[in-house]
Amino acid sequence: MRTSYKILGAGPAGLTAAINLRKKGYNVTVYEKNEGCGGRINGNLQGIENWSSPKTMGQRLDSMNINPSFLLKPFYSTTFMNTERSVEANSKKPWFYLIKRGAAQDSLDQGLRRQAERCGVEIKFSTSATAKDVDIVATGPRAGQLYAIEKTAIFETNLNDMALVLMGNQFAHRGLSYLLVSDGYASLGSVNFGKFGDLEQCFNNTLKKFEQILGIKIKDYKVAGGVAGFSPSPTLVENGKFYIGEAAGLQDAGFGFGVSMSMESGYILSQVVDKPAPEESYQNAIKKRFGNHIKSSVVIRYLLDKMGKNNYNDLINMLRKEEDLRDFFKGFYNFPPISRILYPFLNKSSVIATDQHLVPSPFKV
Ligand SMILES: Cc1cc2nc3c(=O)[nH]c(=O)nc-3n(C[C@H](O)[C@H](O)[C@H](O)COP(=O)(O)OP(=O)(O)OC[C@H]3O[C@@H](n4cnc5c(N)ncnc54)[C@H](O)[C@@H]3O)c2cc1C
Repeated sequence: MRTSYKILGAGPAGLTAAINLRKKGYNVTVYEKNEGCGGRINGNLQGIENWSSPKTMGQRLDSMNINPSFLLKPFYSTTFMNTERSVEANSKKPWFYLIKRGAAQDSLDQGLRRQAERCGVEIKFSTSATAKDVDIVATGPRAGQLYAIEKTAIFETNLNDMALVLMGNQFAHRGLSYLLVSDGYASLGSVNFGKFGDLEQCFNNTLKKFEQILGIKIKDYKVAGGVAGFSPSPTLVENGKFYIGEAAGLQDAGFGFGVSMSMESGYILSQVVDKPAPEESYQNAIKKRFGNHIKSSVVIRYLLDKMGKNNYNDLINMLRKEEDLRDFFKGFYNFPPISRILYPFLNKSSVIATDQHLVPSPFKV
């Protein structure tokens, strides 16, 4: 009878799986190539989406046995803008929860690390291994599946808490630029979906534009960021190994909200490993939870690309008419009839970037 599991990668997917396998009584060892957790996306503020489940965020974390011992701040309002117009969109329930990634004590990564170590998971840092050495692969984005890249400026500021989204291909190719501020800590980024070689220019345009909008000068900033990988047909089992999180290609092709999918896939795997046919059970459970979500995200990417041709004016107009921002996202990710009609006709592989070789060295996978 199996008594232990080896996991490759101490990101949100690997650690969520580790915590839950340990809770089931297995000995768990996690191999992490960096010297600590959260090294891949060190310092970024991120958002965990709050529309893909009817549960509250507290219930979602609780159902995965995750203690929210990290920054988890609800956001109810966001300003969306392009060069012509802007709209402040609001929601009754939080539409996302702000988290921090990286080495800071209040980051998601450190919260998960503390919980994993407290329950007896052994994490071996500065240890690079390969899929053949382990049972579960949770190594994040895979070469060949990259579809988005982000450069981020991290800085301290006097600005109040806020979320701003700036759209326009000069700021973020097929993507979005954003500013998130929480308690004097800011993350300002450009997320390109493709055209990886244009990232630097887009980032510089974004920085200038936000300085102009806010009337501030952003000088002393630390650079962060990274790449994201997506597959329209996730690889959940390969050569007898389980894949979770972005290593499986589990991501959101629309906006890149991958954290919740990574954590949940780790949890889902931990719940099926001791079933009679674990591989099939895992594949079925992921399909049930994320099948339509992934398909919806491909349609969203297609619609965003269409709207980008008109400077995203249609998106801003839609948001102006929308009463609740969370309902807006929930509607689109619930595989509505329009998505069901469009999906079969879309070229799914066009989501993947054709110029992945242009990923600059700090962000290489
Ligand atoms: C800049 C940026 C901003 C983002 N913003 C958001 C956001 O706002 N909201 C959201 O939901 N998602 C966001 N994402 C996506 C999100 O970060 C990922 O979906 C999520 O981190 C994936 O988790 P994971 O555990 O699958 O992989 P990762 O977080 O990549 O963790 C994988 C771990 O495996 C380790 N590893 C890799 N290879 C090896 C090896 N051979 N041996 C040992 N260890 C290895 C890595 O060092 C890393 O610690 C963003 C991504 C980026 C890059």
